[in-house]
Amino acid sequence: MATIIDGKALAAKVKEEVAQKALALSAKPALAVIIVGDNPASRVYVNGKKKDCGECGFYSEEYALPAEVTQKQLLDLIAQLNEREDMDGILVQLPLPKHLDEREVLRAIRPDKDVDCFHPYNVGKLMIGENGFVPCTPYGVVRMLKEYNIDIRGKHCVVVGRSNIVGKPQAILMLREDATVTICHSRTPDLAAECRRADILIAAVGRVGLITADMVKEGAVVIDVAMNRNEQGKLCGDVCYEEVAEKASYITPVPGGVGPMTRAMLMENTLYAAIQHGK
Ligand code: NAP
Repeated sequence: MATIIDGKALAAKVKEEVAQKALALSAKPALAVIIVGDNPASRVYVNGKKKDCGECGFYSEEYALPAEVTQKQLLDLIAQLNEREDMDGILVQLPLPKHLDEREVLRAIRPDKDVDCFHPYNVGKLMIGENGFVPCTPYGVVRMLKEYNIDIRGKHCVVVGRSNIVGKPQAILMLREDATVTICHSRTPDLAAECRRADILIAAVGRVGLITADMVKEGAVVIDVAMNRNEQGKLCGDVCYEEVAEKASYITPVPGGVGPMTRAMLMENTLYAAIQHGK
């Protein structure tokens, strides 16, 4: 039976450490969170981020813009926040309403305030291994593995999913930790065979029940990034948790696994930004 990786407890520990480090700075780290429209899931995430800021002793500002906001209005707000010396991080909660150009919006955030690490400049730095921001979800996964003393070096890691937010940066980070990495996606012909080769299997797809026990090697570490709703409306991942837990050595639950760690790593990135800004 697998050891359950307790993302909630770990996230609390990370936030506690961040709070301690923030106390030593000359001013509070400051994060601006922009939310557009009234997507209920986005509202939950933004509330969570504000709560985390409070727990870490950060200053935060929320900008709740109506769904009809224009691209120009949104870019003007980002430009103002870019100029504000007191503001360390700017986060635009995704997804944005369809009439807005998400790519242009994310590029408008000054790279030194890009705490989500979505700006092409920061993505490029990550790719070539320079110090800087690390995208929160993949960063949280690596931190979890390290906290549980799970060896990454030389291990075969299979990442299922190749999005810019999770799959791709996750693969880069695992490579950085000296894993041998395979990236799978919707066009991978034999997903099960690829997954069975994994010492560390990271699922980031968004499909309930995608990863079954027969796709998992005995003793593998299984990380479930996904946040899906099943038919009963219950939060769940991509992994068939009960059956896979019988075979894996470590497993993350959903909820209570990667999600809380993602939030904690946003705090870590905001702290990093504040330090870079000389606070
Ligand atoms: P996404 O942009 O939709 O990407 C999904 C990826 O899965 C794509 O690369 C897609 O392949 C691949 N895929 C789809 N069907 C597949 C299949 N049958 N077999 C293999 N690969 C398949 O999603 P995302 O933004 O990366 O998010 C993935 C999941 O993680 C979602 O459930 C999301 O809610 C969750 N998430 C969680 C957190 C957290 O904090 N825990 C953070 C972010 C996202 P193609 O590229 O070929 O289309």
